[in-house]
Amino acid sequence: MPSLRMMKRKNPLLAIAGGGIAGLASALFLARSGFEVMVFEKEQQIQTKGAGIQLSPNAFKILDSIGLTHHLKADGYFPDHINIRSGLNMQLLTRFPLGEQIRHRYGAPYLLIHRADLLHRLLDACKSEHAVHLFFDHKVYNAFPHAHGIKILVRNGEIYDEYLVTALVGADGVWSTIRKQLEGAIEPEFSHTVAWRTLLPHNEVDEKILTSSIELWLGPNAHIVTYPVRDAFNIVAITPFLSDKNPDSGRIKDRNRKNRLSFFIHWHDSARHLVNLTSDWEGWPIYSLIKPHKPFKEKNGLPICLVGDAAHTMLPFAAQGSASALEDAAILAKWCHQTPEDLETSFKNYAKERHGRIKYMIKLSAQNRLIYHASGLVSCARDWILQLIGNKIINHRTARLYSWTADSSSPP
Ligand SMILES: Cc1cc2nc3c(=O)[nH]c(=O)nc-3n(C[C@H](O)[C@H](O)[C@H](O)COP(=O)(O)OP(=O)(O)OC[C@H]3O[C@@H](n4cnc5c(N)ncnc54)[C@H](O)[C@@H]3O)c2cc1C
Repeated sequence: MPSLRMMKRKNPLLAIAGGGIAGLASALFLARSGFEVMVFEKEQQIQTKGAGIQLSPNAFKILDSIGLTHHLKADGYFPDHINIRSGLNMQLLTRFPLGEQIRHRYGAPYLLIHRADLLHRLLDACKSEHAVHLFFDHKVYNAFPHAHGIKILVRNGEIYDEYLVTALVGADGVWSTIRKQLEGAIEPEFSHTVAWRTLLPHNEVDEKILTSSIELWLGPNAHIVTYPVRDAFNIVAITPFLSDKNPDSGRIKDRNRKNRLSFFIHWHDSARHLVNLTSDWEGWPIYSLIKPHKPFKEKNGLPICLVGDAAHTMLPFAAQGSASALEDAAILAKWCHQTPEDLETSFKNYAKERHGRIKYMIKLSAQNRLIYHASGLVSCARDWILQLIGNKIINHRTARLYSWTADSSSPP
């Protein structure tokens, strides 16, 4: 029989399931808004696998508001451009400026960083907050209503414990256990694509091809993205997944290289050379929620809400997954701060405010997939339009994403 643990506290106590970007950022924002926060992470340490991530100005502004950008600037790269090329012949289709121009337009830069560096900075900031209590190797299993809030069942090794908290935030990623607690829980769907990822040391690549800008190479049914992180180039090749059976949630070993390479047979030599360079590729099967899960639903009096991938795993074609998780954290804390004594209302307001924005991000990511992976005549039209008015279109499509700030975000 697990023992029921209660923390002595003055302020409302929130539990967060998951210590990824969404969970740690939420913990920081909530602690700074006057809450005691317990973060339960099922792994023994933070999960730093996954190499590079792009942080657009909307994400940067949030990290800046919690004082993290000083360190992140030292860890990351500020790319000058995104160069979009045809993967078939390497022709430059458009060069979209990201450096000073983006900083000037949106009041924040575009940053490339290693996921581990971002997570460590968030973790260090959490550790320096008295109100954040971190529990690694603690998996949240279940939640039950209680007269004084919510009782959560947590497993640490062979030991099960129950904790009594005021409310629970599910930040437990795409395969969220907490989402299953909500009415009408939806399941992630397989996109039939895999993101093949690797890091190549600078000295192993031709720096004429891989620049300190972001390179985006488009071809039929696949695309390649490269950019510098730390002392390496982050390479991601997204291809279809060839199998009748959907892969499970884990990583895919690059056992059948031929399958992966077959998508690049007709690509330019430089692209084929790149995807052939190393055997150290790891496949991430791409699952997503086709619509945002309603991140709050009171069920049997359970005050639960969701943030990050648990609420809205999106396709990675607009590089907004982490950005949206950071935005969630800021907006959740804003509403919790407004009505700390009535967190159900806070969660409802948070859910309402995020809904339109998340829907837009999901739509944009899905459209980008169609644009990036077009083939035949459609890809010819795409290339022609990109050469003609590429920057105008990209400006238009990204303005709503990048101009976002927690203050300008529209209230429900
Ligand atoms: C190929 C690819 C490229 C991407 N590139 C970008 C990019 O460039 N820019 C960008 O903004 N986004 C990008 N993303 C998206 C981004 O990685 C995710 O949206 C983001 O990491 C989600 O963070 P999260 O904290 O919500 O979830 P996660 O990172 O999945 O973290 C969830 C955490 O919860 C823990 N956990 C799970 N279950 C439990 C439980 N029951 N109890 C306790 N702990 C639990 C897990 O161990 C994990 O640590 C990319 C995604 C992919 C697949």
